[in-house]
Amino acid sequence: MQKIQNYINGELVDPVEGEYIDNYEPATGQIYSQIPESKACDLELAVSAAETAQKDWAEMPAEERSNLLIRLADAIDAAGDELAKAEAIDNGKPITFAKHVDAYRSAANIRFFANAATQFASESHSMGSVGVNYTLRDPIGIVGCISPWNLPLYLFTWKIAPALATGNCVIAKPSEITPMTAYLFSKLCIQVGIPKGVLNILHGTGPSIGGPMVEHPKIKAISFTGGSATGKHIASVAAPLLKKTSLELGGKNPTLVFADCDFDTTVSEVARAAFSNQGQICLCGSRIYIERPIYDKFKTALVEKIEKLRIGDPLDDKTQHGALVSKPHMEKVLSYIELAQQEGGSVLCGGNQVEIEGRCKDGYFVAPTIIEGLPLNCRTNQEEIFGPVCTLQPFDTEEEVIKLANGTEYGLATSVWSNDIKRCHRLSKELDFGIVWLNTWLLRDLRTPFGGVKSSGMGREGGHEAMRFFTEPKNVCVKY
Ligand code: NAD
Repeated sequence: MQKIQNYINGELVDPVEGEYIDNYEPATGQIYSQIPESKACDLELAVSAAETAQKDWAEMPAEERSNLLIRLADAIDAAGDELAKAEAIDNGKPITFAKHVDAYRSAANIRFFANAATQFASESHSMGSVGVNYTLRDPIGIVGCISPWNLPLYLFTWKIAPALATGNCVIAKPSEITPMTAYLFSKLCIQVGIPKGVLNILHGTGPSIGGPMVEHPKIKAISFTGGSATGKHIASVAAPLLKKTSLELGGKNPTLVFADCDFDTTVSEVARAAFSNQGQICLCGSRIYIERPIYDKFKTALVEKIEKLRIGDPLDDKTQHGALVSKPHMEKVLSYIELAQQEGGSVLCGGNQVEIEGRCKDGYFVAPTIIEGLPLNCRTNQEEIFGPVCTLQPFDTEEEVIKLANGTEYGLATSVWSNDIKRCHRLSKELDFGIVWLNTWLLRDLRTPFGGVKSSGMGREGGHEAMRFFTEPKNVCVKY
């Protein structure tokens, strides 16, 4: 059985204490590899390697750092098919999605921030004839990056890239549920010659290695993406240590459909927004509000579309809906479908576990599920399910739908579907979210600020926001 290794000081190594945990293939329910359960002793090795590497990496001219990272992006592109297959096996997502979204974006993330390294500049403040201030932006030093399982290499690289581009040394931890592509990525780092100790990848669970990373006094900042409960816990540990944190957390995103939308396109895009990656994207629109005059027509068209999705083996090119990431997660999603019915909801399609014949017969498949008849203030509409489950609700006025949309503890992303441009802008101002999409969903420009408000997080990633997060400003004041 394949054993994943940590990547410390430029080498692949076994965990010091030799402990491993099992890694499951969600489509088959079988254990197919083992992951180091890293501990504080592994972290010490990584921190010491990062400390040794820090000065040279920080002082390397930006262009040289950039060139190295571009080579890494090229290597990801070249290994795209292998990475996509590994992601599909490890996560359960359809291989076509893994190719076009996960593998593609992982390379794009690295390339984007490699270029940003050569474009990043700082400010100066003139005091007229008295003097001038200029702001140096130095790397923080050693930083920690912790990522989740839903878009494994995509979100892992999204954090690592700006941290490295700005001259930090990084200790990174992928999710223990989907470690494989981070392992393959560490091999690519060796292949392209990322200097020893600049990036260190430790595998293992949150309590075993994530916690020690957050607490370590030499790790000066933590960039975290994951659940809101974990994020709040990390914030409570990091705050008394005065450690900088960027927290990208959960969502319960509303989709607002008006009667004047482009009907067919909106049905397709709302379906994509709800069920891409089996509904396991923090940005998925899981509460769909439809203006009453088109409610019945929209509902019928949406259900018809969703019932046609091909559920199957993630490794089959034609599969559109794969497995959920783990057995506990599948059980959680099924329990929410049960709860939705207890709360008075009617299941319009799906609602059940699906058995696939052949090698996937023991996999964690759940049919895409649409539910109607639930009010805003029930658990189904308030809590993040993070699976292929969405609810439908009609509305009559803009004021009403704004209240519905804003009526949860989350504020990550929303989308509005309407041809009334004034209305779109009016609503964008009122909607309490970090990201508002108008007549589109998941259209991404990596320069834009990315993140949420309320329980969806603190801070922003992307473009200059990320470059600023990973640097420490130092003002230099000169008197003429
Ligand atoms: P999670 O919070 O369980 O785990 C995320 C990561 O944190 C994992 O690597 C885990 O091992 C680690 N971790 C767990 N406990 C820790 C601790 N005490 N200290 C340090 N690290 C710890 O989340 P998940 O189940 O992997 O991911 C799903 C969640 O992520 C959902 O809530 C989803 O909305 C959210 N998410 C948010 C975004 C965003 O950009 N806002 C993107 C993707 C996913």
